[in-house]
Amino acid sequence: MSSVNENASPAQTWPELLDQLAAKAKREGTLKALSSAEGFTEKVRRVQEINGLRRKLVSWISQCSESAYGKSGGTASRLRDEGNLKFKRNDNLGSLKFYTESVICAPALGPELSLAFGNRSAALYHLGRYQDCLQDIELALKHRYPKNLEFKLHQRRGQCFVKLGEFDPAKAAFDLAIQALDLIPKLTPEKRDSLSRDIQALSVESVSISKSQTSLPEAWPGSIPPTFEPTNPDLPGATSSLSVKRDPEKGRFVVADEEVAVGQVLFSELPYASILLLDQYSTHCHHCYKRFYAPIPCLKCTQARYCSEDCRTDSWDQYHQHECAHLDLLHSVGIAHLALRTVEVTGYNNLINLKPFFNQITLSSTSLFPSGEPYRNVVDLVEHSRTMPPDEIFQYATTALLLTMYLSQRTSFFSSGSMSGLKLDPSLDVNEDSLDFIGGLMLKHMLQLVCNASAIYEVGPTKEASEDLNNAVSETEQRRIATAIYPGASMMNHSCDPTVINSFFNNRLIVRAIMPVAKGGEIFNCYGPHFRRHLRQERLTDLQSQYNFTCRCSHCADPKADFRLHGRFAAFKCSNCDGPIPDILKEAELTNQEDWHANQPCMDCGQARRSSQQIGDVFLGLDLFNKGQEMAARQDFSGAIHSFQKSLEVRERSLYKNHKDILETLDSLAKCQAMMGNFSQSAESLRKCISIVENRYGAVSIEVGHELVKFSDILEGQIADNGLNPKTAEALEAILKRASEILLLHYGNWHHEFQEVQEKLKQVSILLPPNK
Ligand SMILES: [Zn+2]
Ligand SMILES: [Zn+2]
Ligand SMILES: [Zn+2]
Ligand SMILES: [Zn+2]
Repeated sequence: MSSVNENASPAQTWPELLDQLAAKAKREGTLKALSSAEGFTEKVRRVQEINGLRRKLVSWISQCSESAYGKSGGTASRLRDEGNLKFKRNDNLGSLKFYTESVICAPALGPELSLAFGNRSAALYHLGRYQDCLQDIELALKHRYPKNLEFKLHQRRGQCFVKLGEFDPAKAAFDLAIQALDLIPKLTPEKRDSLSRDIQALSVESVSISKSQTSLPEAWPGSIPPTFEPTNPDLPGATSSLSVKRDPEKGRFVVADEEVAVGQVLFSELPYASILLLDQYSTHCHHCYKRFYAPIPCLKCTQARYCSEDCRTDSWDQYHQHECAHLDLLHSVGIAHLALRTVEVTGYNNLINLKPFFNQITLSSTSLFPSGEPYRNVVDLVEHSRTMPPDEIFQYATTALLLTMYLSQRTSFFSSGSMSGLKLDPSLDVNEDSLDFIGGLMLKHMLQLVCNASAIYEVGPTKEASEDLNNAVSETEQRRIATAIYPGASMMNHSCDPTVINSFFNNRLIVRAIMPVAKGGEIFNCYGPHFRRHLRQERLTDLQSQYNFTCRCSHCADPKADFRLHGRFAAFKCSNCDGPIPDILKEAELTNQEDWHANQPCMDCGQARRSSQQIGDVFLGLDLFNKGQEMAARQDFSGAIHSFQKSLEVRERSLYKNHKDILETLDSLAKCQAMMGNFSQSAESLRKCISIVENRYGAVSIEVGHELVKFSDILEGQIADNGLNPKTAEALEAILKRASEILLLHYGNWHHEFQEVQEKLKQVSILLPPNK
């Protein structure tokens, strides 16, 4: 018998190794045996029987476990010195970076950690990050900051409280600072008096500020998303007005038990389990995905970074104790890492206690499964193993085996009990059977995650889009930061024209209605393919390959309707009714239909067809547009305006009014007009842009929101230039109100763009006459 991978070159990555193993399994006929094995546990068992496979996995685990993420006092000290150099040169941001790295590298025991926190608190104070500064001072004191320097920390803490307008705590901190002077050995009475006088002076000053200051700028009210009391065990995170229905044909789906209004929050759900992407480690909390400024490290490794001690503790208790120093191995297995974490957060003890309530073949929950057990919602998510090719099943099963071996050999998972920290019941024996059970569960979760995992993302306009003159509509970027499992929101079915929109507050998923839903109506999410942004064929292919179903939404049901929507943005103008005449080239691209003949008549009146002059205008319009772009790039804005206007004239005479080329010309024109200070003309151009963008992306789309914000900037410019005109101010207020409604739907009221619009609204209301 040949062992695995005798002759092949050594694999560099986990997928490479999987490919080699799968090829061997195929040669030896084991793949067939695997497909016929009934149930997930059995499949994982069969994989182990392959000769030499376990040995290969053992060596893969050791190969990955050499850790480059240990702590070092020497490195921490060197980094702090570099931070000090920057700090002396008033480079606060530069020093912050080095101090943070010093914090991360410093061993939990020893002086380096407290010194790094102490120094970083100084940089944070100068950067105006008072809350972060206070947290660092706490941590420095907690990790035994040198006694003779302690007074400095208390003094800085007092100054932070003054900046935050909290005068009583400030006073208390200054008092502590004076007491801490006694901790300095060999301090002369003169020196002590002088230090004490300095602190007294700060304290007295803060009292006088506290008297003069009446109100402080308040944070935007309600900037924390709502949470719901858990009411429905089948639908975690949902508002009480939703419920799950079951149907033999379509499975489970979510309906509204009461009428739903636009903007209503329907889900506010925390993930059951989730994984931060590796490239986000240096910017986001490892546990809650909050963006941080001054992270605190895992006490053991230099990889996991947190926003707070609470997150660090929760992370350690729930999963990081089993992952610390092995994150490279775990990231190498992709989505399987999330399957592992699902099992970790549930806890071994809990899983073994639930074992009798599982159907042993499908590992789904039986009717005896304790109701209200949150894990049940994960266990019952759908998967499509029946239609999956055998070599893919083999790869997932092998990965499940790898992770089970990892858990038993490198972690205390099988002996540490549940996440509550309970010791394992000695009567629960960790035998082969339990190992296979956990392996089977992980295999099942991997297959579920293929169609149930959600991306957690941050949103905002792309950097390029906001700087690029050529970009017609400011594109939004969704930066994916993590992968998560939301069992409640996963119950919603897909539509290409969804009833809801998703946003995130750190790791919390917020689902809001974007259209009214009648009582009893179904709630639809969009799994990605959207009828306004993707063509029908693209949508159907994507949904079939990832989610194994054929969409039957109204936009997918009728290929012609889909073409009529998308075809309009690339159509010629009808000489008879100004309607759209399809562009035959685009047509071929948009539909896979044979019945679209060349030279179609107008979609609206069916009378006119395009003329040869219109084809000529396409090239002429493009030529003039490109000339305008060149001039704008040379800062010749008046030349550019002239060229864009001529291009617009040509394009408007031959292209349908919502054509994307007209949008592109108007947008560039508006930018140049604003550059030249022609705000009223720029406003006119933008007004037309908004109407096209509304037609293209929908009235409550984020694209319209961004156009409105742009428009408000122009109107502000107009007011600044021409003085206050009540009409303009009213128009500005209306625009901002609409923008803020749209930003609220897409981003939530905690997002900085929403808050900026609120700030602008406040300023406009000051401008408007009081009777308004
Ligand atoms: Zn956190
Ligand atoms: Zn760690
Ligand atoms: Zn559809
Ligand atoms: Zn027509």
